[in-house]
Amino acid sequence: MTAQQQIHDLTASVPGFPKPGITFRDLTPVFADPSAFRAVTDELLAPFAGSIDAVAGVEARGFLVASAAAYAAGLGVITIRKAGKLPGRVLAHSYDLEYGTATLEIQPDGLAAGARVLLLDDVLATGGTLGASCELLEEAGCTVAGIGVVLELEGLSGRANLAGRTVHALAALP
Ligand code: AMP
Repeated sequence: MTAQQQIHDLTASVPGFPKPGITFRDLTPVFADPSAFRAVTDELLAPFAGSIDAVAGVEARGFLVASAAAYAAGLGVITIRKAGKLPGRVLAHSYDLEYGTATLEIQPDGLAAGARVLLLDDVLATGGTLGASCELLEEAGCTVAGIGVVLELEGLSGRANLAGRTVHALAALP
C-alpha cells in the first residue's frame, strides 16, 4: 500500500480542535503504524535521495519524520524550534498566525555553509511555519533543496505562500 493510501486510511479528523472552526488532522495513528511510518519516511525522502546533505524538522511533529528520514539517508538532522528552547547563538524569525505571531529559531553555528537541506513537517496549512523555516535555514547559510510534508491542507494557500519552492506532499485533504 502506498503512503498516500495509508495516510487517508489512518488520519483522524477532529472537528473543533484546538478551537471551534478548525478541523484538526491528527497524524498520530500514521506515525504509530509501522508500515505507514516506514512508507511515509521512505516517500518523503525518495524525491531528494542523493541530492541532500541534511534533513531539517520543525518542532514538534516535524522532528518525527525528519529524524527518521535523516537516519534512513545516513544524514544528520537539524532542529527548528519554538522560541526560547535553544541555547547559545540563535537566529529567529517571526511570522503571522491567524491571531498574533509565532517565532521559530535555529542554531546557525555548526551548519555547513551551502548545505542542501530537505525541510520536513507533518502538515502544510497556510505555509507560515515552513516559510519561516526556509528563511531561517537560508539565513544560516543553507540551501533549501525542497520541502516535504505528510499532508497538505488544500484551500489554505500554503503552496502559494511557498511559491518558487519545491513542495512535495504525500497526501492532500480539503
Ligand atoms: P501553517 O503554518 O499554517 O502551515 O501550519 C502548519 C503547522 O501547524 C504544522 O506544524 C501543523 O502541525 C499545524 N497545523 C495547522 N493546521 C493544522 C490542522 N488543521 N491539523 C493539524 N495540524 C495543523
